[in-house]
Amino acid sequence: MTDAAPKTTHPEVSGEPRLLIDGKLVEATGGKTFANIDPATELTLGDTADATPADMETAIAAARRAFDETSWAEDHAFRRRCLEQFHAALDTHRDELRNLVVAEVGSPMMLTYIMMVDGPIDDLGYWAEKPDQYEYEHWLPVREVFGQPQRRLIRREPIGVVGAITPWNFPLYLNLAKLGPALAAGNTMVLKPAPDTPWSATFLGRLIAEETDIPAGVVNVVASSDHMVGEVLTTDPRVDMITFTGSTATGRRIMAKASETVKKVFLELGGKSANIVLEDADLASSVPISAMGVCTHSGQGCAITTRLLVHRSRYDEAVEMAKDSMASVTYGDPWDPGNFQGPLISAKQRERVLGYIEKGKAEGARLVCGGGIPAHLPKGYFVEPTLFADVDPKATIAQEEIFGPVLVIIPFEDDDDAVRIANDSIYGLSGAVTSASEQRALSVARRIRAGTLMVNGGLYNAPDVPFGGYRQSGLGRENGTEGFEEYLEVKAMGLPGTATA
Ligand code: NAD
Repeated sequence: MTDAAPKTTHPEVSGEPRLLIDGKLVEATGGKTFANIDPATELTLGDTADATPADMETAIAAARRAFDETSWAEDHAFRRRCLEQFHAALDTHRDELRNLVVAEVGSPMMLTYIMMVDGPIDDLGYWAEKPDQYEYEHWLPVREVFGQPQRRLIRREPIGVVGAITPWNFPLYLNLAKLGPALAAGNTMVLKPAPDTPWSATFLGRLIAEETDIPAGVVNVVASSDHMVGEVLTTDPRVDMITFTGSTATGRRIMAKASETVKKVFLELGGKSANIVLEDADLASSVPISAMGVCTHSGQGCAITTRLLVHRSRYDEAVEMAKDSMASVTYGDPWDPGNFQGPLISAKQRERVLGYIEKGKAEGARLVCGGGIPAHLPKGYFVEPTLFADVDPKATIAQEEIFGPVLVIIPFEDDDDAVRIANDSIYGLSGAVTSASEQRALSVARRIRAGTLMVNGGLYNAPDVPFGGYRQSGLGRENGTEGFEEYLEVKAMGLPGTATA
């Protein structure tokens, strides 16, 4: 922390410092708090209750009771009404949430009008409609077994108590992407946000407590500076499912811990996605997908195409274009509406990104631009837009998730080579393919082992589109009917006879 002054004037931001446990906004046991640091100034924004393992246990007990002893799981119309109230509350407090996200996440104001704030608030309307629209039961055709007709009824029911653990990069979006479907499906929850961005969760707790009829215990929000408080969720037998978004390393640990009680585990993890630019592609529309993309929220996005693969015949041209694109990126104070790129979340994250840049140089990649802390931004966790060319596809910076504004450009020889390089990754979250021929782009996209693809610049992101990863990018899908059904158990019932009730 330093005593640097904020760079521009902006509204005073105060988040919700209290936890939500069993319907009440409370301090942590023992009254401990932790500081919320503004990543653009390194100043403290305020404090948040620092939950203990005992607070987590109380929250889990409340969620268990609310699931087992109330009609929340069965009363679809009531859930819809509650989610509509929550949606209305989010809408009313839209600008407070916007300011809070800019302050604690360091998100550029520009980004709040799409995926950081307005997108997820609007998308909650999609989940509010789900509870009484979804067909929870359906019949299969009558089947003869031992000469007797049998009817088969398939029913979906909520899983129970869901522990939701979220990261700091798009916290409001990800908190709502878990609360929306899990609550719509009839589960009760404990939400554990990342220590870097507690208010994007605790503020939601306040809205739920004060502006909705969501019963006590259905949603609990437990912030803590200690990751191990979140780990209690992964081992407690009263928790039925973990929905997690975060790094692959933490995902592996959560999966191992949850195995002791055989919980359902839903994981949205890291990525190292490839953007394939075929030799007939329009470079002006395909190269910026990565060159600007990697600067979006300073590269702190799991689905950003951080590997730009370009046909060798267009490679030099693409390197120049990527360099020009990155030079056009305005960055600095996130409150400045003209800035496209803001800071990284923390000093630790900046050290990690700078470490990867050094590793890239040491492994022989050519640094085309950037590579350091911008001289004009000594305060705040800023890193320059950085481009590496002539990168070996096996190099560390081409294989590992950097989560900073760092792009690698790799040449390929033909379509097969491009597919091979793109698929040479432990990850499989997203990707992009561009060609003058849509058929050709689509046929390459079909060969990429990833959960989402932009084909010729097409955008897939929406609440009705399943999002998630292959391989070590995760298990399961967020959003869409597929995402909703992640939060439902399946029960099959057999009944003799032919008449369907
Ligand atoms: P992280 O894994 O360090 O932390 C994520 C959350 O897990 C935090 O709330 C943290 O407190 C908690 N946590 C850490 N250790 C834990 C443990 N042992 N038990 C239980 N909880 C624990 O991730 P991060 O650095 O906050 O976020 C960045 C990562 O998230 C990147 O790898 C990024 O790719 C990934 N991400 C993925 C998606 C996706 O949808 N696939 C979306 C956004 C971010």
